[in-house]
Amino acid sequence: MRHTHVRVRRALVTAVALATTAVVAAAAADDDDASGHVRADHRAGGAPAIATTQLLGHSVQGRPIRAFVRGDPSATVTALVVGCIHGNEQAGIAIANRLRHWHPLAGVALWTLPDINPDGVAADTRQNAHGVDLNRNFPFRWRPLGPPGSLQYSGRGPLSEPEDRIAHSLILRIRPRLTIWFHQPLGITDRSGGDVRLERRYSRLSHLPLRQLPRYPGSITTWQDFRLRDGTAFVVELPARVSAAATRRYAWAVERLVIQVAKSGQ
Ligand SMILES: [Zn+2]
Repeated sequence: MRHTHVRVRRALVTAVALATTAVVAAAAADDDDASGHVRADHRAGGAPAIATTQLLGHSVQGRPIRAFVRGDPSATVTALVVGCIHGNEQAGIAIANRLRHWHPLAGVALWTLPDINPDGVAADTRQNAHGVDLNRNFPFRWRPLGPPGSLQYSGRGPLSEPEDRIAHSLILRIRPRLTIWFHQPLGITDRSGGDVRLERRYSRLSHLPLRQLPRYPGSITTWQDFRLRDGTAFVVELPARVSAAATRRYAWAVERLVIQVAKSGQ
């Protein structure tokens, strides 16, 4: 029974992943999955909201990589929050998980990807299971860096890693207007190359000062800001230690920014 249930749920998740947003809403309305994987919320007088889970793929060691979608099925604005890419920088996972429960306003879909490097998180290593720094493996100014397993090893070539191929195809599919990548432990908002007004606003709301880190070869945010000109992506370096209150503040700051992006129609 258990296996059957898992298979059914997996099939449903796959179907949802392939469906258009409108179909997702209809399917979700028919299937009120107790696991919370697929649900439809109907707010009084408002547009129906969706809350779905999408299995995006698997890590080198076969761990699932999932995204959570919350918001308006007819959304014209999408935002993406990635909680963790360097496996030993895990504080953003709690922020992303908190944002999974937020109701974005009409016209917005918020995607949260709490952990795109589950093998690194399991091993508490910066890199993935191939010893690759996933934030040096993107196809923008990629170049060989370091021997395998070294701090910034960039892989055999651009997008050599399954985790990065997952991020790459997701970003091209949903084309987020706003993307935030959480790291640690510098305690700053990075001036990453997108719309500096958004970076400055996040800095003010979060109290993480605005600074500019080096533009590393093969960086995902640099690729996004170059490739998707109608969107802004930036890095937030959380402090080494993040309290529960700080987690709430950093998540709230994301919400305010998503609202600003939606209202300005950027
Ligand atoms: Zn990092």
